[in-house]
This record gives sequence, C-alpha cells and structure tokens, in this order.
Amino acid sequence: MPLQPISIYVHVPFCRSKCAYCDFYSIANHDLMSDYAALVIDEMRQRRGFAPSAQVCTVYVGGGTPSLLPPEQLALVVDAVRAEFTVHPNAELTLEANPDDLHPALLSSYRAMGFNRLSLGVQSMDDGELAALGRRHTAQRAAEAVRMAQRKGFDNISIDLIYGLPDSTTATWRHTLEAALQLGVQHLSCYHLTVEERTRLHQQVRRGQVQPVAEEQSVAQFELLRQLTAQAGFEHYEISNFALPGMESRHNSGYWLNRPYLGLGPAAHSYDGRSRQWNSRSLRLWANGLRCGQPAVEREVLSPTDMYNEMLLTRLRTKWGVSLAEVELRFGKEARQRLQGQATPLLRSGVLVLRNADVLLIPPAGYLTSDALLVELFADNGPLGIS
Ligand code: SF4
Repeated sequence: MPLQPISIYVHVPFCRSKCAYCDFYSIANHDLMSDYAALVIDEMRQRRGFAPSAQVCTVYVGGGTPSLLPPEQLALVVDAVRAEFTVHPNAELTLEANPDDLHPALLSSYRAMGFNRLSLGVQSMDDGELAALGRRHTAQRAAEAVRMAQRKGFDNISIDLIYGLPDSTTATWRHTLEAALQLGVQHLSCYHLTVEERTRLHQQVRRGQVQPVAEEQSVAQFELLRQLTAQAGFEHYEISNFALPGMESRHNSGYWLNRPYLGLGPAAHSYDGRSRQWNSRSLRLWANGLRCGQPAVEREVLSPTDMYNEMLLTRLRTKWGVSLAEVELRFGKEARQRLQGQATPLLRSGVLVLRNADVLLIPPAGYLTSDALLVELFADNGPLGIS
C-alpha cells in the first residue's frame, strides 16, 4: 500500500524583537533556546503515532525566526525528523530566515542539513518602510542575503513582501516589486497588510498615528503585483503566491489541497484529515506539557460542513480550484447539486469559471475581493445534505 504523504511544520518562536505588524507567536526571551531542539524532538517522539503509515514529503521550519536557532540545534531537529519518520528522498525542506542573520558559513550549514528551499522575510525594498515595520534589515542587506544564498547553491528561494502598507502608493510598491524581481528568485509570497489586534501597529492606528491604506489603493497595488509578476514569468497560483513554472511551494500547496500535516512547537497547528489540533501558544506551557508526557494540544473534530467550507475557502483562490466530482465523492450528490446551482449565475457573470466541465475557480483577478463570494457559497449547519 502506498504511504500517505504528510508534511511537517516546526515552529521556532524566537525573534530578536517584535515587528510592528506581527501577530505570529514569537518571543524575544531566549532562555529556552538551548533546550529547544531537545523539546521539539521530544514532541516528535510523543506524537509519532500521528500518521503511522505516512511518508513526509515536505518539512517547513518557520517562525518566529528559525535562523536565530544555532545551526547545531537545527541539525538535531532535521536529523530527528529523518530518524523518526520516513522522509521522501526528494522531499522539499524549507527554512525561513531573516536576511540579517545570513552569512556564507551559516548558509553552507543549511545546505549540509539538506535544506533545499529558503523563504526570506524581506517585506519591502524601501528602508523607510522597513524601519516603520520594525524590521531589522535594510533593503541592501536583503538583496545581499539573496545573492549570498544563490552563490551557496540555493536555486529555490522565496521572498515574502507586504503590500497595502500605510502611506504606500503604486509607485512605492512598484519600486519594491521591481527590486525584488531583479533578484532572480523563483517564488514570491505577497501579503496585503492586515492590522491585527494584538500588534503595535493596531495601537498606532487606534491613536490615529497611522492611517490604513484606502481600498482603491489596495486594489491598484494588487493589480500592479499581478501585472509585474506575469511580465516576469510568474504564475499567480494562490491569492498571495506567485511562482516560476514548477516552483510552487509544495509545503503550502499541501495546506490548500488538504494534505495532513503535523505541527511541532508552541502555537503550531496539525491536521490529520479529520481533526485540527493546535499546540499551546505559550513556550513554557508547551514545554511543561512535554516534560510531563502530556503535550498541551487542543483538538477539534471537523464536521463535514467544516471540511466542505474549508475546501471552498482554501481551494477556490488557487489555480487548482474545486472539483465538482470530488465534492460529490466526499460530501454527496446533494452537496454537488447545491454548489452547481449556486455557481450557475456566477459562471454567467464571470465571477467563477469552470475548467474541463468539472473544476470551479475564481479568476485570479478576483481573488482579492472574493471574501463575500466565499461566504455566499459556504454551507451553514442547516440541512445541506452534507452534515
Ligand atoms: S521576524 Fe517575523 S515572526 Fe518575528 S516579530 Fe517579525 S514578523 Fe513576527
């Protein structure tokens, strides 16, 4: 029997300082850093039964700032993944890194560990914007880090950028995009800025010190993003992700295509095909749970309605879309008929398109403004033929 493909995510929660917009679980206190690899390996062993007959096809070490973790610690984690799980020989191994941390010897050690993909948190190529975001690198340092990684043989590099920043214009965004595209990377993740409640940026907005960007400006920047990436040969394959042919993130694609994943580390989430689990959002509680042999994990079993809605949410804004045949297979004939009925007027108006008489998709130009459409398509918990 073929092994079930799964992904592994390892969260490294340490950062040097907190960026103004950041709502990820990250801490500037590094007291537990020297124990971190041992703790992650302990969790790996305690949760080994997560997917007993599985093969790991992607590993993603994210954060936080994984490049702050001493390389010896990181190597222990990677070796343990190989020892505890069956890892596909061509697995994608991604490491998130802060451009400011990278130097040639560190990059060589990442290559030696088997990382074959880097994801760099560049965010902007404008030093004023970087300072306002609380980033510790400059645009020049980011460009140097990409070139250094390329010289060390990394040929699968992604950079994260943020658009819709306060005071940004299509001209400032064009500058960042053009500078980023000149670096010769294979993948871009471009997120619209979200002002999350628990952030410094939220306080600045509340006090009137910072004005969120106007909606027309967001749309204009999204359009520019689509235009410049298309000119550079990138495919817009998910609302926030753009790749050269064949260079999509295999790890993130797994999330959108409902592949199971095991998340290790505080605040990491897991999905086994039937339920979601999430680890405590506290390094100490997570570590204490492991030491007592009781990982601090909460679990929610997904109802068919949850799974159906999630499939619409994650897939309609990707190039893979939602297959009507798969809807019928997983949720029944009634669910398929319901979706087809809802889709008919939307197909006529061009809000949705149908590929190969089976796959429903939102055209990429409509991704940014598709929230209301998705809500309209969602099943509620009523008599929908799928609960
Ligand atoms: S480096 Fe990343 S995880 Fe750390 S504070 Fe900044 S945005 Fe958050």
